[in-house]
Amino acid sequence: ELDVTEYRKSLAIRVSGFDVPKPVKNFADCGFSNVLMNAIAKQSYEKPTPIQCQALPIALSGRDIIGIAKTGSGKTAAFILPMVVHIMDQPELKKEEGPIGVVCAPTRELAHQIYLEAKKFAKPHGLRVSAVYGGMSKHDQLKELKVGCDIVVATPGRLIDMLRLKALTMLRATYLVLDEADRMFDLGFEPQIRSIVGQIRPDRQTLLFSATMPRKVERLARECLTDPIRVTVGEVG
Ligand code: ADP
Ligand code: MG
Repeated sequence: ELDVTEYRKSLAIRVSGFDVPKPVKNFADCGFSNVLMNAIAKQSYEKPTPIQCQALPIALSGRDIIGIAKTGSGKTAAFILPMVVHIMDQPELKKEEGPIGVVCAPTRELAHQIYLEAKKFAKPHGLRVSAVYGGMSKHDQLKELKVGCDIVVATPGRLIDMLRLKALTMLRATYLVLDEADRMFDLGFEPQIRSIVGQIRPDRQTLLFSATMPRKVERLARECLTDPIRVTVGEVG
């Protein structure tokens, strides 16, 4: 039997919030479909990383998360795997009516990495992922979005452009991830983030990840998340 308190202490894990689901030890404890388990095995991910052990059961239970952990800790799979489960739980999938999962990241490079990781877990279930960031002409972007998608991975600026052009809507979106929130604020994306959040139904599930929690990010979390569980892994400034 895992002593949760001792385990968390050993990894400098702090969790706060009410009714916190128990951490998992293995991917097999998450109730994933065989399709997802195979996709995880294909990545040679043997065990969940410490942030994944904590965050997966929380996200799978539908709760909001503030995740604070340094780069390289495996945050992407911690929000993508539950996102795929969330989407597969929907009674109807209508790609043309807009994405269900929306991920915002600060830069094109980071968004692209998330896009690649999302495809690994979404495609085996037949879900479509669209990339909405610089590097593709706006013309090609519009064409690609016409096809529809279940997941959008975006930088805030380009996503706002596409929303203005009505290339997609957020009407169906119910799972929002704000990744590297502190960097998005550093890059001046606060107004865009607030606009995007404002276009997504308030009963969505929201996950915010950040390496640090400056006051402005703390305020956004307070305003945009509902009864979040805060998971901090490691010594974070
Ligand atoms: P972060 O977003 O916290 O910086 P990433 O999600 O980019 O971290 O993951 C860092 C690296 O760890 C990636 O190469 C990813 O493929 C790998 N990784 C993620 N989860 C696991 C796991 N459970 N086991 C092994 N490697 C993993
Ligand atoms: Mg990351």
